[in-house]
Amino acid sequence: MTRYFFRLDDMAPKMNWENFYAVISVFEKHDVKPLIAVIPDNRDPKLLNWPASPEFWQEIKELKNRGWAIGQHGWRHLPTGNGGVLRIHKTGEFGGLNFANQNEMIREGKEIMRKNGFMPEIFIAPRHSLDKNTVGALKENGFKFISDGIALYPFEKWGIVWLPQILWRPRRWLFGKITVALHPNTMSAEDIEKLEEFISRNRKKIGDFSELADWYSSAGRLKKISAFFANLFFKPVWRLIFRLRIKN
Ligand SMILES: [Zn+2]
Repeated sequence: MTRYFFRLDDMAPKMNWENFYAVISVFEKHDVKPLIAVIPDNRDPKLLNWPASPEFWQEIKELKNRGWAIGQHGWRHLPTGNGGVLRIHKTGEFGGLNFANQNEMIREGKEIMRKNGFMPEIFIAPRHSLDKNTVGALKENGFKFISDGIALYPFEKWGIVWLPQILWRPRRWLFGKITVALHPNTMSAEDIEKLEEFISRNRKKIGDFSELADWYSSAGRLKKISAFFANLFFKPVWRLIFRLRIKN
């Protein structure tokens, strides 16, 4: 059986506010609580074309108070590193940089989150760019989860729990704990309509993000072993499908 979870990426004071409110209201209407991926110090030129709102941190605080999960989405969202271990893109913010450098970037990001009233435990690396140094720095800064990884079920690697993310738009899936990462800034009206349709049709299979974060620590041994093998077989299959999709 499949459980779906949602993540909203690239949330920052400068964003497409109209889409933000439209997407939020879809989730509110169906009482689903996603993960919000906040960029602490957004400097990405591609994400600066919208007006800044002084209400940003307050809006995020309200969502947190209603049970939404808040995560830290990198630091400045700039292509300062390579594709990292996941190799989904060729550039990203963290992959390939040394530990001291990454540690400082993550620490500064978290400090901004802290000043605004958040102590995130979930990290989302921009463009999936992360490596062993990133994980070391995340642990150093008190993070417990990474929302990323090519797998069907959460798993532990390098001493941190990974909550896999393999979809970028809602679509039916056969089994697993599936995170769908949405980019509200660039969603069309049709995308938002399709999201609402998917949620209405699959509401019983959709969980709050906190359910996903809790899964690994509450799963028994047998569940973890079967999840391990499901992940093991899934990875090469996904790589094959993903490569084919890119080529076409
Ligand atoms: Zn991003």
